[in-house]
Amino acid sequence: MPLTNETVAVVTGASSGIGEACVRALRANDVIVHALARRSDRVDRLADETGCIPHTFDVRDRDAVADLGATVPADVLINNAGLGRAMGSLWTAELDDIERTVDTNVTAAILMIRALVPGMVERRQGHLVNISSTMAVYPGGAALYGATKGAIHKLSRDLRLELKGTGVRVSEINPGRVATEFYDVAIDDAAERAKATDHGITELSPGDVADSILHVLNAPRHVSINQLELTPTEQVYGGYAFAPIWSD
Ligand code: NDP
Repeated sequence: MPLTNETVAVVTGASSGIGEACVRALRANDVIVHALARRSDRVDRLADETGCIPHTFDVRDRDAVADLGATVPADVLINNAGLGRAMGSLWTAELDDIERTVDTNVTAAILMIRALVPGMVERRQGHLVNISSTMAVYPGGAALYGATKGAIHKLSRDLRLELKGTGVRVSEINPGRVATEFYDVAIDDAAERAKATDHGITELSPGDVADSILHVLNAPRHVSINQLELTPTEQVYGGYAFAPIWSD
């Protein structure tokens, strides 16, 4: 349903990147926005600048998520909080990195759905926007991260079927490379991070992704944009690799 000044939206991962850009874009359209992340200084500043309502807790916190669901009658949920650790090395990953990535990208996203979607169903309107990735569907050499986004891809498709007849729409957004703090969080070693990020292309901006999400949200009620993939023009997927077996 097109956005109005009575629409209530919840955005997770609002302290930087895509989430912050979504908050700004929604507030520019007078939507009532609940913005959630852990870094309170960032979220409070965003609230001062945009008039969004700040929430600072860890999206993996079951009780805090349930409280949010019980108190905020959301029409829109942008399930965006996420990260990628152990990019390129699932088979040698630290167990903490595995747990943090799966718990944030998958379990917490499900907790948010469980907390907020029942109210949407009751009101016979709502829009769930899951931020997935191109890596959900194409091999990107980051098996752990890809698996979590693949889960969001499948979850979005199945949930759409579970929600049939309720008036609640489910949209999956699959961005390619976006210029955010993602790789600062993903890779600790500066030289390794530089290898992953010094590619000389013009990446998507967080605002580019937020513009697409607003387009999805503003579609007339009878139109469900189920999946939207956007990449930098200079980024393409596909191809194959030949790799001789290492010798010692
Ligand atoms: P950023 O690192 O800039 O933003 C991530 C956001 O998630 C931050 O606001 C962070 O806030 C929040 N977050 C992380 N963990 C938690 C947590 N446990 N509880 C609450 N909030 C949390 O990265 P992006 O903007 O790039 O990432 C947003 C989404 O987009 C992610 O799901 C990512 O996988 C996806 N994506 C990113 C792409 C890219 O190239 N950048 C491409 C495709 C998809 P805080 O630390 O303050 O809690």
